[in-house]
Amino acid sequence: MVTKCIKVTPPVFTGLDEAANALKNGKLVAFPTETVYGLGANALDESAVKSIFAAKGRPSDNPLIVHIADISTLKLLVTTIKPEAEKLIHAFWPGPLTLIFEKSPNVPMVTTGGLNTVAVRMPDHPVALELINKAGVPVAAPSANRSGKPSPTLAEHVMEDMDGRIPYIIDAGPCRVGVESTVLDVTENTPVILRPGGVTFEEIKNTIGQVKQYKAEASVEMINSPKSPGMKYVHYAPKGKVIVVSGKKNVFEWINKKTSEDEKNSIKAVVVAADENIANYSTGIKMSYGSIGNPQEAAANIFRIFRDCDRLGAEKIYIEAIPEYGIGYAVMNRIKKAAGGKVVYLE
Ligand code: AMP
Ligand code: MG
Repeated sequence: MVTKCIKVTPPVFTGLDEAANALKNGKLVAFPTETVYGLGANALDESAVKSIFAAKGRPSDNPLIVHIADISTLKLLVTTIKPEAEKLIHAFWPGPLTLIFEKSPNVPMVTTGGLNTVAVRMPDHPVALELINKAGVPVAAPSANRSGKPSPTLAEHVMEDMDGRIPYIIDAGPCRVGVESTVLDVTENTPVILRPGGVTFEEIKNTIGQVKQYKAEASVEMINSPKSPGMKYVHYAPKGKVIVVSGKKNVFEWINKKTSEDEKNSIKAVVVAADENIANYSTGIKMSYGSIGNPQEAAANIFRIFRDCDRLGAEKIYIEAIPEYGIGYAVMNRIKKAAGGKVVYLE
């Protein structure tokens, strides 16, 4: 299959009609959102949705997020919209918040990975909204990477993973947020964050008063039936070993010692650190994730950094921990996953 790349620069949407028609007619289209690039199919078309799982190499019990461009479509997909959900929609849509609802019979089981609930969000990206509008159908879209690879934040990343596997990629440049949406289960009495993301715990709490963070690590239940099916699969792992280092004073010394040992042993090491600290590192290839005071910069850069590490053949990747406030929490969640859950804590 030849993959056609269509470059779109809002507010001009030339070229989208062809992709929107293909989408409506059961074909796959990768498209930009504010979080990461998505791999879209008509959410109501079973065989189109099946081809997403095939193109990604994704297990079929890992459900997809359905993307919509207007609220009337939501009513078609779900049975009830509770008052809390309405408040959240009002506050954060379009935006990086995915809500889990009881699904209506209109939504095929393949889309929800066999669950009776459906995940829905309205992306805050003019190209995504225009594409969904033009297609005139809700669009099921996981991140447009091959399963197990970092989510794509540039069209080039999608090309790396999907060239020859899908008919269309729409390129509108880098994604603004850079980590995936927050997934919030609003079917529970107290809504539960199943995956931290672009909208923070604090923002949700301020809007509806109460919210819980699902702690996968602490849950035995997780092993057999994770609340969010995606949790049981390996995610975001670069090929090199990721070592996250947290601490106040000794981080530079610790990492410098390790990278000079690596150098002696001919191990290719990368150091990922804040702009403000990067000059403190002496050996290894240095990559900055952005300013320490602005976790949004780290969010926008982290998946690209993982892919760059793979391209360079990095064998070890030392990452300075990012302060876990605001979106920094979601960034650290992705980094910790890449590190197999481990963090080196220094005094
Ligand atoms: P991705 O599409 O790669 O961004 O991943 C979507 C995430 O949303 C996965 O972690 C899914 O497990 C989660 N998700 C989607 N639908 C549901 C649902 N109905 N219930 C719980 N989690 C869901
Ligand atoms: Mg994904």
